[in-house]
Amino acid sequence: MPVDPSTATLLIDGEWRAGASAFEVVDPATLEVVARAADAGPQEALAALDAACAAAPSWRETTAEDRATRLRAAASRVRARADELAALMTGENGKPLHEARGEIMGSARMLDWAAEEGRRADGRVTARAAGGPGLVLRSPVGPALAITPWNFPASMLVRKVALALAAGCPVIVKPAEQTPMIGTELVRLIAEAGELPPGVLQSITTTRPAEVVGALLADPRLRKVSFTGSTDVGLSLIRATEGHLRRTSLELGGHSPAIVFDDADLPAAAAAAAAAKFANAGQSCIAVNRLFVQRGVYEAFLPLLLERVAALRPGHGADEGTTLGPLIDFAGLDKVERHVADAVKRGATVAAGGRRWTPPPGEGARPGLTGAFYEPTVLTGADDSMLISSEETFGPVLPVYLFDDDDEAIERANATEYGLAAYVFGSGLARVWRAVDRLEFGIVAVNDAAPVRPELPFGGMKNSGQEREGGSEGIDAYLETKSVSMKL
Ligand code: NAD
Repeated sequence: MPVDPSTATLLIDGEWRAGASAFEVVDPATLEVVARAADAGPQEALAALDAACAAAPSWRETTAEDRATRLRAAASRVRARADELAALMTGENGKPLHEARGEIMGSARMLDWAAEEGRRADGRVTARAAGGPGLVLRSPVGPALAITPWNFPASMLVRKVALALAAGCPVIVKPAEQTPMIGTELVRLIAEAGELPPGVLQSITTTRPAEVVGALLADPRLRKVSFTGSTDVGLSLIRATEGHLRRTSLELGGHSPAIVFDDADLPAAAAAAAAAKFANAGQSCIAVNRLFVQRGVYEAFLPLLLERVAALRPGHGADEGTTLGPLIDFAGLDKVERHVADAVKRGATVAAGGRRWTPPPGEGARPGLTGAFYEPTVLTGADDSMLISSEETFGPVLPVYLFDDDDEAIERANATEYGLAAYVFGSGLARVWRAVDRLEFGIVAVNDAAPVRPELPFGGMKNSGQEREGGSEGIDAYLETKSVSMKL
């Protein structure tokens, strides 16, 4: 069978290639096929690693200023094509267009940040010692692999690529199989705008991630892996690296608590909690999964929250007015239904939603919305024994818990294997600070629904991951440290 050139989603050694076979990409709202992508195997992945190794010596010799110029050019190109890229993302991920556009603009900011931060990746001279000076040098760690998920298919990919390139590392990208097209398009655009030499930025799409990634992990020339995805796969990557060590950054699952203290601005807290839950239909690693409300303000807070939830408009992400897209697939929907059924069985009350969503009949309704839609849902009377209280739901369901005193809320918030993000709503400085200090999470948002900025390190504690992306820590993840002692 002749190779279909539209499936040429493999960028290897400067050349776009199709694979021996291809796989279909579907619109999760309609289940229609929107594209086909190359289905690479280990051979193509290893060819990319060969090219990365060949490119590494000259890429590390480029100046930080040169790399910054290339990254800024890529940022401008991303901004100029934001609408088109957002539409591409919505077509395969399902999120509302305005969210997709926000993610694209955030990705451009990340490219700019990495461009600037790469110029500050300097070392130091130590205090005078006998003999001569001591130096601390930083150098690129070497060829890197970036494995990214479908839920934020642009920002997760760009974050890794931008920091790796800024640090002087060639990088191979492996986007999620549900969303290969936006990842591939971003790789194309960054490579072209940045006029990157062959092998510096490459892309591998595949439906066989374990096999393809396994082949790369078995090769000690791969010096760095940066993974964003589930905790189970993240742990398997650590286990797969046998016989040699390599730098590994993991951004894994979360189970974010939000605490509403009784001195919070309640309308603002309700708006922020709803935003932090229902963005991307709840399929976010930093989505609020447990909402703790102080007993004294519960009666006033709940109607404000329900009002926000009632205002959400499910539908196709590309349609005007849609604020809630579908889940990525029916496996995700099954998990949501399992969590809701278990919570109800254990005494929770469905205060909003609680069912699969189907489009209301009527004029102007878009036909064919057969994807995995679920109504925006609020459960009251939740308790810590429910499945939803310990497992990441990854869907549009918000369980609400009551608490009496601050320490109890903090303790229950911390009672999870995860430690990615936590939200605090309140106004008393002392109690807010106490919560910030005691919460065991890599990210704490105070009266804020969107705690992601390029300037801030992003990442989790406990089973939510290791290392950070963003902030000055982000570039550290791609640099080795060398100590030099001199006797001159
Ligand atoms: P996933 O782990 O199934 O997939 C993520 C990536 O890993 C994909 O590219 C996939 O192809 C690849 N992959 C799958 N199996 C693999 C294997 N055996 N070896 C190597 N690579 C493999 O996760 P998902 O369901 O697509 O994404 C959702 C998860 O990601 C959630 O748990 C979410 O919380 C987490 N997430 C975390 C962050 C963060 O920054 N901490 C951000 C977004 C998503």
